Amino acid sequence: MNIIDTHAHIYLAEFDSDRSLMLERAGKEGVKKIIMPAIDSSTHFAMLRTEDENTISCLSMMGVHPCSIKADFEKELKIARDHFKKRSFVAVGEIGLDFYWDLTYTEEQYQAFDQQIEWALNFDMPIVIHSRDSIDECIKVVSSHQNGKLKGVFHCFTGNERQARQIIDLDFYLGIGGVLTFKNSGLDTVIKDVDLKHLVLETDAPYLAPVPFRGKRNECSYIKLVAKKLADIKNTALQEVEDITTANAEKLFAL
Ligand SMILES: [Zn+2]
Repeated sequence: MNIIDTHAHIYLAEFDSDRSLMLERAGKEGVKKIIMPAIDSSTHFAMLRTEDENTISCLSMMGVHPCSIKADFEKELKIARDHFKKRSFVAVGEIGLDFYWDLTYTEEQYQAFDQQIEWALNFDMPIVIHSRDSIDECIKVVSSHQNGKLKGVFHCFTGNERQARQIIDLDFYLGIGGVLTFKNSGLDTVIKDVDLKHLVLETDAPYLAPVPFRGKRNECSYIKLVAKKLADIKNTALQEVEDITTANAEKLFAL
């Protein structure tokens, strides 16, 4: 048993009362590493503290989430950039475009996304992309920067077959989480014909808990439910899903 949760916000307040127990449960389900996406300066220190305090390997990304891109986005970018001067991180993330919540800062979101992709290219680091109501736009931005060296993952992929194909053609991974277990998500049909070598597993905890915990707080141990569902869909052994997706994550994040 050796699973990597490639996307979990375990440093958020939702886990303040039972973080170490939650991590213990994850360890029992075979979760060996957890990769933590940054959001913005309001939670960077909680993330770095979680990395320091826990024995299970919790590794930080650094970056500014598209929902945190507002009028003061240049200040936020500078804070994230300064963290990169102090130490190394596993990825630039999570970054991207979110056109679901608010369209006020669309132009700023594009600027911040472009700039953070340039950091990743300069640092030779992968990017972790958040796209909501914006997959095609994110694919376009990644295409415009892809010089053969850009690597990363479309986290919480929920797109269609065409978008999956375009992302794979860009040499990017698809991050698969709890949505795969949702009835009528249609993601099972899309993923059925995608080779496991293009997929990594994630929870996005505390969000998007898989069935039967849908709507409740998500946690890293539930990644097993996603892995099982993926094994069912691909008609293969759970061990195979774990082995391949873990190897993919190790390669992508240089673990
Ligand atoms: Zn996230």
